[in-house]
Amino acid sequence: MVVLGGGLAGTLAAAALAPHVREVLVLEHDSVLPEAPAPRPRLPQAAHAHILWAGGADAMEELLPGVTAEWLAAGAHRIPIPNGMVSFSPAGWYRRSWPDTHYLIGASRNLIDWAVRARVLRLPNVRVQTGSKVCGLEGDAARVLGVVVRDAQDERRLVAADLVVDATGRGSRSTRWLRDIGGPEVRETVVDAGVRYASRRYRAPEGAETNWPVIHIPADPRQDRPGLFATIISIENGQWHVSLSGTRGGEPSAGEDLFEVFARRVRHPLVAELLARAEPVSEVSVFTRTANRRRHFEQAALPEGFIVLGDAATSLNPVYGHGMSAAARGAVALRDLARRTSLLSPGFSSKAQRAIARPAAAAWTLAVGQDRFYPGAVGGKPSLVDRLGARYVHRLNHTAIGNAMVVRRLTDVMTMRRPAHILGLPDVLLAALLGSRMPLLDGPELMPREQEVLDRPPLRSAGASAAEPGK
Ligand SMILES: Cc1cc2nc3c(=O)[nH]c(=O)nc-3n(C[C@H](O)[C@H](O)[C@H](O)COP(=O)(O)OP(=O)(O)OC[C@H]3O[C@@H](n4cnc5c(N)ncnc54)[C@H](O)[C@@H]3O)c2cc1C
Repeated sequence: MVVLGGGLAGTLAAAALAPHVREVLVLEHDSVLPEAPAPRPRLPQAAHAHILWAGGADAMEELLPGVTAEWLAAGAHRIPIPNGMVSFSPAGWYRRSWPDTHYLIGASRNLIDWAVRARVLRLPNVRVQTGSKVCGLEGDAARVLGVVVRDAQDERRLVAADLVVDATGRGSRSTRWLRDIGGPEVRETVVDAGVRYASRRYRAPEGAETNWPVIHIPADPRQDRPGLFATIISIENGQWHVSLSGTRGGEPSAGEDLFEVFARRVRHPLVAELLARAEPVSEVSVFTRTANRRRHFEQAALPEGFIVLGDAATSLNPVYGHGMSAAARGAVALRDLARRTSLLSPGFSSKAQRAIARPAAAAWTLAVGQDRFYPGAVGGKPSLVDRLGARYVHRLNHTAIGNAMVVRRLTDVMTMRRPAHILGLPDVLLAALLGSRMPLLDGPELMPREQEVLDRPPLRSAGASAAEPGK
């Protein structure tokens, strides 16, 4: 079996299927996959803060027992939810003092991938070939028989395989490769709010290096203006990874002097106030390829022996933090199917593709249900169903401020532990009807240690003066 791409989805696919095949060969375009948590050229998104929600982390742990301990030993944080989240939902500040029910992993993307990759490459029947750019499929409309690869010396060769998994990420060429061998047209849906990311790492202020909550100030899609977002996540080495983003018309710039100015323009200045008390330790990186893009492989009459996983099938606006978790849950679905059905049995690929599509579709619905509301969003105006859905989600957010059961259900869905339909169960509907049982908070709920950091004098005045384009 051959896996195209040695990123997260590719290595998780290898973990999922290795017990069911003789050998897994992972073909990776990058010439080196680092042996430590380090950047690499074809993972540019690692310069941006990545949230790994409980649903995704659980799935990775299921596929690779011990990987969580490896992340934590390397400096990652296991951040409890709701205690470890200071979040200003469009309905108000969430309370943190409910019992913890979920968690997220706070770590750089380089660390997350490194631990997964290291464990997968220790499996006896998995090997990776770096410097190998896949440039086409071999086979016909009925069956894929392998792939065409160009190596570092620009030599083309055929790699035969009875199963090919495409995990080449957002830039996957699979739809074209399928067409080239006479395969089906694959329908594609795009919803693009034009989000641009700007990210930077900071040395956390003294005393804030560990046990520090995620600070999350999202946009309010109901306001008829560009959505602005700001997030701080504690990662390894006593650093904060900070990502700012804005939808079309409200994009952050790459300028270092404008980074904290933008942080002050989101719905609350908490992130800007904290950054003014921390030292930047990296330059600002920007990223613009953030459209939600769904290639409906699960609806196409795919040739046997061909499966697509991860961003190659469904790439999501990153502001909701679901890409890695959707890929991991897809890999678990693939593993579960492989346990029940022979990989070479007729129809395996189509069944696998449908199983993979389920978690990805859930994340897709959450993302596009909000993104369609932002000004200038491409891919269709919000429908009546979108509008009703958005109103219900707002009502749930409002109810969650004073109802532990609703917080738990919303967190189940947000962390991808459970599917979104649980938000329509009778107990949740009834709670939403009754509304919040407690008053709104008039500011973030901060612990004394967190407030003490905020009470320190700022190191810089957080650029209240300059204005940015799109303001
Ligand atoms: C700015 C930003 C922030 C994000 N934040 C979050 C977050 O907070 N939480 C979250 O869960 N997700 C987040 N994501 C999404 C997450 O990064 C992706 O969902 C995830 O990387 C998908 O993994 P993948 O393996 O499918 O693709 P990738 O990680 O892109 O890996 C693809 C691999 O395929 C290789 N490759 C590509 N083409 C070829 C070829 N022709 N031949 C051989 N190899 C090839 C590449 O070199 C790479 O190694 C974010 C994304 C962005 C852009």
